[in-house]
Amino acid sequence: MSDTVVALGGNAILESGEGTVADQRARIRETRDALAPLVERGHDLTLTHGNGPQVGHRLLAEEAAEGDPEPLDVLVAETQAQVGYLLAGEFGDALGGRPTAVVTRVRVDPDDSAFENPQKPVGPYYSAEEAAAKPFETTAVHRSSGSADGRDDAAGGATAHRRVVPSPEPEELLEADRIRRLADDDGGPVICGGGGGVPVVPADGGDGGDGGDSDDGGTAPDAGAYDGVAAVVDKDRTSRLVAEAVGADTLLFLTDVDAAYLDYGTPDQRRLAEATPAEVREHAADDQFPAGSMGPKIDACATFAGETGGEALIAAPDRLAEALDGDSGTRIVPE
Ligand code: ADP
Ligand code: MG
Repeated sequence: MSDTVVALGGNAILESGEGTVADQRARIRETRDALAPLVERGHDLTLTHGNGPQVGHRLLAEEAAEGDPEPLDVLVAETQAQVGYLLAGEFGDALGGRPTAVVTRVRVDPDDSAFENPQKPVGPYYSAEEAAAKPFETTAVHRSSGSADGRDDAAGGATAHRRVVPSPEPEELLEADRIRRLADDDGGPVICGGGGGVPVVPADGGDGGDGGDSDDGGTAPDAGAYDGVAAVVDKDRTSRLVAEAVGADTLLFLTDVDAAYLDYGTPDQRRLAEATPAEVREHAADDQFPAGSMGPKIDACATFAGETGGEALIAAPDRLAEALDGDSGTRIVPE
């Protein structure tokens, strides 16, 4: 048996279309079928997922609604429940038992430098005039042509504006201990850490109680009060914490590109088939992996492999079986 955390990228939940519930259900069924090679090979699955398009819809709806908008932390929690519910419903028992979705909080450091320098684009696109009138910080982005999923092109596309929020480092999952116990009981896949988790900080400048050492054998990690913050955590970084919390031996990122490439998008691009954490960090230092897309996956893979001795893999859902055989994807293996 292998304990595997599968991080579902945006395209695993919504590929195209308007983003209706029917669109999402249809895409999730394709993802369910794509995960069959893992089930056949005896992997016990814990799942994480993105929430970009879903939280984008909620932000847009809140702007149109009367009264005070719901805060971003609450919107992230809503999308965890929404996507978790859809995944559980469409997966059924196909992945080895009935899935359970956990609304997950991640503690972040209130002094994280991300709070001084918000960089993560979220929500709808605005014109320059619209952006200037918004009560929040915005930035110019390149709008990907035909993108239904709220992602930005690194280059090309028309210039538009989006809200930017801090994306602090996740320090700890408040529910780590409970997630591990759910994952251990073999009752079916656990779905957690959706959208990177709801970012929280200890209330009133406290230390959040116990501090949540997930090795403490069962002390309630979430003793103490926490406040949500207006930020989002990258789901790739949180997925690494989930993998460590459940003691996974494999961390798998499913995304819309079949591997991490060197010189990506140039005539010289080539698949990085296998690398150690040190090798991949050298490529990262060489600016091969942008901070808004491949960067956090590579970082999570390198940290996971380096700290736990497990293997990390980046692959496309429709090439998963090949990737498990080493014929596709990027594998990050301990030294
Ligand atoms: P996800 O929702 O799976 O997190 P992202 O858009 O954040 O998706 O990351 C996947 C994207 O990373 C791909 O669509 C690809 O365009 C982009 N990317 C950037 N640099 C690279 C690279 N060096 N190799 C492969 N893909 C890359
Ligand atoms: Mg991403």
